[in-house]
Amino acid sequence: MFEGKISVFDGHCDTATKLMADDTMDLGKTCGDGHVDIPRMIEGGVGAQVFACWVDPDVPAEKWNITTIKMIRRLRAAVEANSGSMGIARSGLEIERLIGEGRIAAVIGVEGGHAIGAEMDALVRLFSEGVRCMTLTWNNHNEIADACEGESCHGGLSDFGRDVIGMMDSMGMVIDLSHSSDSTFYDVLERTSNPVLVSHSCMRNICDHPRNMNDDMLRALARNGGVVGINFFPGFLENECSRETFALWNEYKRERTSLAGKYDGDVGRADGELLGRYMPKINAIKVPGVDVVVDHIEMAIDFAGIDHVGIGSDYDGTPMMPRGLEDISKMQSIAGEMRTRGYSAKETEKVMGGNLLALFKRVCTC
Ligand SMILES: [Zn+2]
Repeated sequence: MFEGKISVFDGHCDTATKLMADDTMDLGKTCGDGHVDIPRMIEGGVGAQVFACWVDPDVPAEKWNITTIKMIRRLRAAVEANSGSMGIARSGLEIERLIGEGRIAAVIGVEGGHAIGAEMDALVRLFSEGVRCMTLTWNNHNEIADACEGESCHGGLSDFGRDVIGMMDSMGMVIDLSHSSDSTFYDVLERTSNPVLVSHSCMRNICDHPRNMNDDMLRALARNGGVVGINFFPGFLENECSRETFALWNEYKRERTSLAGKYDGDVGRADGELLGRYMPKINAIKVPGVDVVVDHIEMAIDFAGIDHVGIGSDYDGTPMMPRGLEDISKMQSIAGEMRTRGYSAKETEKVMGGNLLALFKRVCTC
């Protein structure tokens, strides 16, 4: 199935959100839009994929948990409808077994701990629904911890957040620190007994954005035994592209908030109306190529070492992607660029997926 290709383990995509928005979408068929479906995953050599379930914190808080559960079930049904080529993995060994069978291992993730509110039972429920990794925050602060944006609220982890770390460790759920504040990152490393994932982040030394990691964080990540998945989102890859992208994003958010106000807070309806108008502006932003993604990979390797770097594409989470990585079918172009730069086949395999598999085998043991 993946002959001649290096097996990819992608640490982050947002295709579950897309499935939730369109109940006719079949993962098994090539989609006319978006970045991810099974035929294109096979073309890209993807052996394992974390599907993040994310609920917009702009929807009313009482809907966060129930919508997350609905999204998980929609994702599971989409995978089960394609069981010949994909299966849900609940442990590191299951990921490995599915890849060995020539099927894609789907790992269920949650993006944003607001999905559990302040309820430990809700976290346990997510685990029983099959969730095996969770970003403690999205861009909003929550009951668990501070996010990378806005004035600090807890100064890192909250008291509840410290208990959440203990529970995730004991259940075997991977702690994902993308979107967290720097203080949250360091608090978690002090607290956890497991290696952590930073599923879709880039290097601050190349692109100065709070969503990215600095050299000290990378060295700390290596000491913890964790892995960073390099994000493909152009807004995290280059300073100029980042400035343009976030200026447009902030303009979009302002319009979205005022429009959603007119529609009783229905942000989905606001998005539907605005996206068409913004797409030409988004498409006009000059994006970097696959070489810049590999620049971030190289820098991460320089600071953290070859065993601590992976891939977290963010496919279907943004309408923009780098040249040469337009959708998931293009994944092997990263391996090609790494080999051109002199990385051995073994080193390239680690970054493309081996390191993430090793992390899930260590943490998700049941
Ligand atoms: Zn994200």
